[in-house]
Amino acid sequence: MALLQFISAGLPKVAIPTTIHSDHLIVAEHGDEADVMNAKEQHREVYDFLSSASRRYGIGYWKAGSGIIHTIILENYAFPGGLIIGTDSHSPNAGGLGMLGIGVGGSDAVDAMAGMPWELQCPKVIGVCLTGRLQGWASSKGDSSALHSRCRRFADRCRHHSEACWHTHCIRWQWRIIEFHGPGVQTLNATAMATVCNMSAEVGSTSCIFPFTDATARYLAATDRSFIADAARQNSNLVIADEGSEQHYDDVIHIDLDTLEPHINGPFTPDLSHPLSRFSADISQSSWPQQISQAMVGSCTNSSYEDLKKVVNLVREAEAVGLKPKVPMLITAGSEKIQATVAREGILRELEAAGATMLGTSCGPCVGQWNRAGADKHEPNSVISSYNRNFVGRHDGNPATHSFVTSPEIVTAFAYSGDLNFNPTCDTLTTPSGQPFRFSLPHAEELPLSFAKGDTHYQGPPRDGSSVVVMVSPTSERLQLLQPFAAWTQGNADDMAVLVKVRGKCTTDHISPAGPWYNYRGHLENISNNLLTAAENDFLASSPRVSRGHAIDQVAGTVESIPQVAKTYKKAGIRWCIIGDTNYNEGSSREHAALEPRFLGGVAVIARSFARIHETNLKKQGMLALTFSDAKLYDDIGADDRISVLGVEDMEPGAPLRMRVKKRDGKVWESWLEHTYQEGQVPWLMSGSALNYVKSQRLR
Ligand code: SF4
Repeated sequence: MALLQFISAGLPKVAIPTTIHSDHLIVAEHGDEADVMNAKEQHREVYDFLSSASRRYGIGYWKAGSGIIHTIILENYAFPGGLIIGTDSHSPNAGGLGMLGIGVGGSDAVDAMAGMPWELQCPKVIGVCLTGRLQGWASSKGDSSALHSRCRRFADRCRHHSEACWHTHCIRWQWRIIEFHGPGVQTLNATAMATVCNMSAEVGSTSCIFPFTDATARYLAATDRSFIADAARQNSNLVIADEGSEQHYDDVIHIDLDTLEPHINGPFTPDLSHPLSRFSADISQSSWPQQISQAMVGSCTNSSYEDLKKVVNLVREAEAVGLKPKVPMLITAGSEKIQATVAREGILRELEAAGATMLGTSCGPCVGQWNRAGADKHEPNSVISSYNRNFVGRHDGNPATHSFVTSPEIVTAFAYSGDLNFNPTCDTLTTPSGQPFRFSLPHAEELPLSFAKGDTHYQGPPRDGSSVVVMVSPTSERLQLLQPFAAWTQGNADDMAVLVKVRGKCTTDHISPAGPWYNYRGHLENISNNLLTAAENDFLASSPRVSRGHAIDQVAGTVESIPQVAKTYKKAGIRWCIIGDTNYNEGSSREHAALEPRFLGGVAVIARSFARIHETNLKKQGMLALTFSDAKLYDDIGADDRISVLGVEDMEPGAPLRMRVKKRDGKVWESWLEHTYQEGQVPWLMSGSALNYVKSQRLR
């Protein structure tokens, strides 16, 4: 969708270096090559579009099989002192190499690609001073959550003077950048620092960054970028924390790495964190299935060369005493470069010989792309992985899959125990000859002597792509070129019907659900059929059977699906708005949640409050994003009211707008609506969208 929006801006090529990564659509089923081949077949149309559009607009394209976006970024693009934005929430991963990485919505990315300024409220900075060195089974890989939990707990303690409150939301990590510094950073290698930065997304921070260290230089050298390391060394004052920086951070947290213990998180949330020493007790007091059904190593956090080397070293120990994994193992290398390297060193062969299945270098089960046999039976089971998220149904669509996340080495040890009631630091396994066996401490080289090249699956931008034809079939069900939205006209916000009054929590997944809709994310017309289908409509609260995803068609007087009513209004030329509750559209930055109502004829969303990125997305797509001056006004809006917002054409930053509500019986009441439009954002609304505005400026 980002690329489709960029195309609709009518620009000849991207204004800044841009890459596209095909890593989310490969389904884990048979293993590496077969799964990648299947994806290429199944998604040929989408991949051909991405490939042709990349060539046309000067974009680098990393094809299916090249690797996971964040690993590719680390290996090729991240550098100390840089700034990168990515349409994936784990983009802070680049902070492992001293680059500020920030996850954004597609519309923000398109702005940057089009050469527009990318704006963000200036975040505060939390300085985290690390001392000591990780010990034993503790690793940044499994313990980034512990590290962030400690940050959370420390901050909570400062604020609440109580150890009891661990909840993520007790501290506003949003609008915060975490900057690590102190002697402890010198003990971490580059991919370990990247893991910590990657996982900072789980506490909701804006970004996370480490300074340039010797480990950064070693990683840059191993990935053929010694010249960057040299430049960073020569300008090291710019890429390390300033002397005396602790006096300038908005908050400072001290963490002694010696004291961090391995953790296991889950089930169902990365926020539920268990120290390994307490895990067995927690398991025994729970109703969680104790037997493990699957072990998985991979994802953008934990699939480096060092990770796989640690795994194989443990496998070798177990094999040497005749042990075999008790549960199936799925293993993913983060990139083709890593995959080719471990293949060259025979590691792949050893892992497969031990019974593991190597998956294609992609997200796979981490993003639900796992064709797991029997998942549809929804049987309770426990899986353990080194992935970074474990929400309900995240891996296999089975809401009864209890997912626990930890480091690759602890996942491997658990694969050999087959039982969550196990602590590899002190428990033993029994070998076929009846002898007790305990794994030794995990160890591995941080980097290979050299990375193998492999097949990069990379398509570079041609010098001149202006003659390339972008491949979008007019009959496609998955792709559709976007038509520019109409510019604002006088009285556009007069006499709007209320499509729906959303009640309670309304996330992006309520507005534009995922699952089977994933296939239509490049086809605005088709994906608009899911608009608000998971949202609760307050007007139908007395009819629980239909309250979710349905609305009252005020023309026919019937109850229909929300997208159907929106389409009816659009066809009949009836302007409409949405009434939202608190923090409307929290969660993902997916711009479909703003594009869909705009496409179906929506004019405004009036809410008690908005999630920040969605509010901006609505503005960018040319919709009015407004909040009640008094949240209680939400209660006064009726199903058959008609709402007018007055004076939009003359709106000014900071000045509220008048709302006039006409009841069916003709009675009228008025109140005020607030907005956050800045001076430069009003033209987006008047032009019909931010992209229309960009285009108009270019043509002037
Ligand atoms: Fe996102 Fe998982 Fe893919 Fe990483 S591996 S980019 S967390 S889906």
